[in-house]
Amino acid sequence: MAGECLFCRIAQGQIPSHKVHEDATTFAFLDIRPLTKGHTLVIPKSHVLKFEDLTPKDAEALFQAVHTLLPRICQAVGAPASTVAINNGRESGQEVPHVHVHIVPRTKGDPGGPIHALFATRPLLQEREFPALAEQIRTSAAKPAR
Ligand code: 5GP
Ligand code: ZN
Repeated sequence: MAGECLFCRIAQGQIPSHKVHEDATTFAFLDIRPLTKGHTLVIPKSHVLKFEDLTPKDAEALFQAVHTLLPRICQAVGAPASTVAINNGRESGQEVPHVHVHIVPRTKGDPGGPIHALFATRPLLQEREFPALAEQIRTSAAKPAR
């Protein structure tokens, strides 16, 4: 529910945050428990759970804000790299049910790993399974929000 949502309340200024960006459709603020210095969350002002629930216009605005913020954040903390990620749905580890893009500044020797380190094991897919899977995705009728 938007009225009870932590990130809606932060975007509306009802809960304090360290804001780093705001425009008509997006809001960005420092993560309260940063993985690295400068860890920032970028959110749409509209209350949606997952990235595909955004309208195309709001999805574009969200990544426009990420694009604008990345160099500013990295310069502010002297980071030459970043990890940009979305925990997209509860099963992926999303804790706050309002879509948010994590921008995590990265430096050589920091304690983080690549996204591949999220998984200790990988499925044993046969090479012959790939064409059918790719075709299934190409021809899928599933649609994001409009
Ligand atoms: P998730 O696991 O949903 O992808 O990430 C939620 C993020 O929100 C976490 O990194 C957590 O530290 C951050 N967070 C949770 N509550 C608050 C809060 O009240 N204020 C701020 N600024 N960040 C929060
Ligand atoms: Zn919300």
